[in-house]
Amino acid sequence: MNDYPPIQLYIDGHWREGAAARSLPVRNPATGTVIGQVACAETSDLEEVAAAAERGFAVWRRISAFDRYKTMRKAAQLLRDRVEPIARLMTLEQGKPLAEARMEIMAGADTIDWFAEEGRRAYGRVIPPRQHDVYQLVIKEPVGPVAAFTPWNFPINQIVRKLSAALAAGCSIIVKAPEETPASPAALIRAFIDAGVPAGVVNLVYGDPAHISSFLIAHPAIRKISFTGSTPVGKQLAAMAGLHMKRMTMELGGHAPVVIFDDADVALAAKTMVASKFRNAGQVCVSPTRFLVQEGVYKDFVAQFVMHTENLKMGDGLESGTTMGPLANPRRKAAMENLVADARQQHAHIQTGGAPVGTAGNYWAPTVITELPTTGRAMTEEPFGPMAIINPFASFDDAVREANRLPFGLAAYAWTRSARTAQQIAACIETGMITINHLGLGTPETPFGGVKDSGYGSEGGTEALEAYMNPKFVSQAGLL
Ligand code: NAD
Repeated sequence: MNDYPPIQLYIDGHWREGAAARSLPVRNPATGTVIGQVACAETSDLEEVAAAAERGFAVWRRISAFDRYKTMRKAAQLLRDRVEPIARLMTLEQGKPLAEARMEIMAGADTIDWFAEEGRRAYGRVIPPRQHDVYQLVIKEPVGPVAAFTPWNFPINQIVRKLSAALAAGCSIIVKAPEETPASPAALIRAFIDAGVPAGVVNLVYGDPAHISSFLIAHPAIRKISFTGSTPVGKQLAAMAGLHMKRMTMELGGHAPVVIFDDADVALAAKTMVASKFRNAGQVCVSPTRFLVQEGVYKDFVAQFVMHTENLKMGDGLESGTTMGPLANPRRKAAMENLVADARQQHAHIQTGGAPVGTAGNYWAPTVITELPTTGRAMTEEPFGPMAIINPFASFDDAVREANRLPFGLAAYAWTRSARTAQQIAACIETGMITINHLGLGTPETPFGGVKDSGYGSEGGTEALEAYMNPKFVSQAGLL
């Protein structure tokens, strides 16, 4: 049964088609079949949405942080209440197993709650003056209407971080959601509408990403840009935003190193990292990718990692027991094909996987490659798919050199029983985030973002809220 609804734009408090009634097909990655249509915005729709966001901002910024909090908490609860139908839509359009879709939605609700609460604590400060009758105040003001561009790998999570921080700060927002996975973003927006967010405060568009971003980034009503996606696109958008002096947050690609030292708990590391590597079929910006394993435990780690990988159950995300779904689109399957062909040419060992599975859908077997030299493409390009590369290292310095070799710096992982080694590796790796001896990234209350080509700004923690606020300094005399 196909219960995938037609997906419309949401502009100025109304669901509607674009001005030209154009639409794009949406496909189920498990079968390749078209399951629905998504509306496309034209230039005139974008003019309208920018004007709506400006009006929405004027309304929302005047609502108290306490009332904004109440509305947002309601939206979070609605999202929880609707988890089952939304999870089904997400799996249908994106491919991830139903359990992962449910987790993403529930985590999204937690994110809304956290930012809603944090918005009530967006304190300014009082600075001691140089004159006795002066007050010096720093007041936090919302930056203004925001344009957010989000990808298809986490259709809700990628939006909800930007949306929640923007709303908590008092900004309005236009979300340009992914055309390939449009239904779950629409359900997220609906939760906010049903919670009572006024018209113009939250808007949703789809269409031609390059046209929409170049229009909105240049538009004078838009005061902040937030983008999640690949580094090349991020650099283009950042250049454009720079030209128009717009604030921005850029959450871009990664190629996360995982350093396993001789003294690590190898069994726990192998089991934990397989689950992390193949979550969402590896289509995760913080996905562990370059495994650097110290020589003493190398063989043991590879054997255990391959064993757990072969125990994964690949299939349609809607089927119970599936632990890895298909890739979200045929581009990712083609990317896997190219990277594996290159690894073979480089005489690397394909320990398991390395091939497509079946004839329908975008299935690619979970793949483990060992002894791939740094000349191998997958050692430099973000695979963004179910591929782990494992290589041995001798000394601490060798591991650090390899970990820092690439221009990326988003996430890193390390395993060691030594507190000293843990502290040293955290200090030496050029990364925005590192998690040691467990998986500890991605909660709403902790910073989430990268350095180097992985972007700048944070999508979590108090830093994420700050990104949607301007400090205004007020110095006032004559009160005493
Ligand atoms: P892509 O680089 O074309 O697109 C990535 C995302 O950016 C998509 O959501 C797309 O709609 C959007 N986009 C593309 N051009 C845009 C523009 N000019 N203006 C605004 N948005 C634009 O590639 P893709 O095939 O969709 O994804 C492949 C690569 O993207 C991956 O290899 C990965 O590096 C990266 N990616 C990263 C994340 C992440 O979480 N950081 C998520 C998805 C994709």
